[in-house]
Amino acid sequence: MRYSYKQKCIVCRKDYAIVTWKDRNPVCVKCKMKEIARPIKDGKFKKLFDIDKTLYEKSGFLRNIKSSYLRFGNLSEKQVEMFKKVAQEIKHEKPVKKGHREFLEQEIPLEFLRF
Ligand SMILES: [Zn+2]
Repeated sequence: MRYSYKQKCIVCRKDYAIVTWKDRNPVCVKCKMKEIARPIKDGKFKKLFDIDKTLYEKSGFLRNIKSSYLRFGNLSEKQVEMFKKVAQEIKHEKPVKKGHREFLEQEIPLEFLRF
């Protein structure tokens, strides 16, 4: 079942976060941005994650991938590919394609974000 609703952020308990069927720990964008702002030592991933901050602010998917990397220290080939693809999509997103990004993110299977 697909649903989403707003719930108070579990970190700051001030702002609201969107809770979806695949992400049940509500963390607001501000707190998540802080969480993923940690420096990356690995050259390959440092380059991969070196994209405009606003792209992370716009996309929960990009935030989750970076958060996964920080947690596990690695990503699968497929995750790297999807990260690049989604980052490009958002960067070149046209206003007429309203809702397209959400659609794209919803199509990404759960196992993709977890190991
Ligand atoms: Zn918060």
